[in-house]
Amino acid sequence: QPFVSKHGKPAGGARFPLGLDRVHGTRNAPAARPATELLRPQRPLAHAAREALRQTAPGGIGLDSAAVRARMVQRLRADGVACEPVLHAFLQVERHRFVDTALATQAYEDTALPIGHGQTISKPSVVARMLALLFESEAARTSGSLGRVLEIDTGYGYQAALLSLLARGVLSIERLGPLHEKARSHLQGWPAGDLRLIHGDGRLGHAPWAPYQHIVAAAGGDDLPQAWLDQLAPGGRLVAPMHDATAGGQVLVVVDRTDSGWREQRVGAVHFVPLKSGRA
Ligand code: SAH
Repeated sequence: QPFVSKHGKPAGGARFPLGLDRVHGTRNAPAARPATELLRPQRPLAHAAREALRQTAPGGIGLDSAAVRARMVQRLRADGVACEPVLHAFLQVERHRFVDTALATQAYEDTALPIGHGQTISKPSVVARMLALLFESEAARTSGSLGRVLEIDTGYGYQAALLSLLARGVLSIERLGPLHEKARSHLQGWPAGDLRLIHGDGRLGHAPWAPYQHIVAAAGGDDLPQAWLDQLAPGGRLVAPMHDATAGGQVLVVVDRTDSGWREQRVGAVHFVPLKSGRA
């Protein structure tokens, strides 16, 4: 699991002496023990060190989080997500590293979590559904990859990390400086592929790197910006929330670009934060 070990930084080294204490059996040790037993380490030191790290990781999920993620993926499967590459990416990326420490214990529940500035990191089931929709595009079906992806709305960078495992290149745009910086720190040293983060207005897309085989947005406006439609490659697909007056709220819009134009479908109600203009 290269992403787990490379990206993961064990937290809470400060409590390490607690673990050591136990290795040497000074705690609750019987008063008189044969000298030979005291000389023999009771457990390998590496084992004790691993245990100490596990005890002090945020919410106790640090090194055990693979099991919690596996359960999250089981739930996604049971909910009907059948796209194997997407499920595999959810197994790999440690969502608890992309939320604030105080919320780490909730990281694998199927809920949106606050990331400050009135914004939220989307629910895993919604992210999985959107990524699975991208994988049904003509471009993904013929190449088995998402190719080059434009993500609007980096937030804390969780979906960008998932995308980087599924695409050949990802460019992600966030309009709020503090969130862009947060994503940068979450993704520092991220080992997977070509992942670029930009602080800017995602409504404009990013023409210098266009065309994109896939475009995905995690904030919804009243329309789909023309820049996104223009920067989408033929055979490619865009998935984004958008306000729909007849539906009385946001719907998820899927746009396929063909050689002759754009074909749009609306695939159900969703609830995302608003897409705003300009950067701040
Ligand atoms: N995908 C993110 C969650 C995104 S939350 C994750 O996985 O963590 C939605 C984000 O969209 C917010 O951070 C908000 O600041 C951003 N946003 C809203 N309008 C935007 C715009 N025009 N350009 C770029 N980002 C925008």
